[in-house]
Amino acid sequence: MNDRCAYTFTRGADRNKRCTLSPILKDGLCLWHSREERKPYPQGLEEFLLGRAEQGLSLEAFDLSGAFLRSANLYAVDLTGVSLCGADLALADLSRARLARADLTNAFLFGAMLTGADLTGAFLIGADFSDADLFGANLGRIDAFDADFRRANLSLTNLRDADLTEACLRDARLKGSDLAGARLGKADMRGVDLSRINPVGVNFGSAVTD
Ligand SMILES: [Zn+2]
Repeated sequence: MNDRCAYTFTRGADRNKRCTLSPILKDGLCLWHSREERKPYPQGLEEFLLGRAEQGLSLEAFDLSGAFLRSANLYAVDLTGVSLCGADLALADLSRARLARADLTNAFLFGAMLTGADLTGAFLIGADFSDADLFGANLGRIDAFDADFRRANLSLTNLRDADLTEACLRDARLKGSDLAGARLGKADMRGVDLSRINPVGVNFGSAVTD
């Protein structure tokens, strides 16, 4: 078995360098890059991630599926393309975080702070963003089929070309948000003040409204 992680970074200061993180799991990748299920995350996961970010070290291609990061402070951390499937990020501070193309499928983000975060093209299928604050976030091209945004603050967000099919947007705030080209089939938009949405290019289709 290799004693080094098989992952090679593709971006940033570590570009073209092999990963030196440990421990190495059965698939030849470190705990952080391994796609194995039910990984044994160490105590102090939040401090580890934040520490790396503060040192300018990469979290590229990290697989943090199922991680417990409730109430974690991940302000402005670069989580581009990171997998957080099923992770518990309830009440976490992800303001200004970079989450473009991140996989947040079935993640739990109840009450999380995501103001100004970049989630362009992120996978949010079945994710729970109820009561989350996404003010000013970039949600362009997100795949949010069946996601839950009830009571979330989505004011001044970019939701262009977002897939919100069957999503729950009940009582969400969408003041000044841009939904041009968004797919809203069977989306639950009851309790949403539709007059506050930027009307250009919006097609509510079969969305459920008041
Ligand atoms: Zn690695």
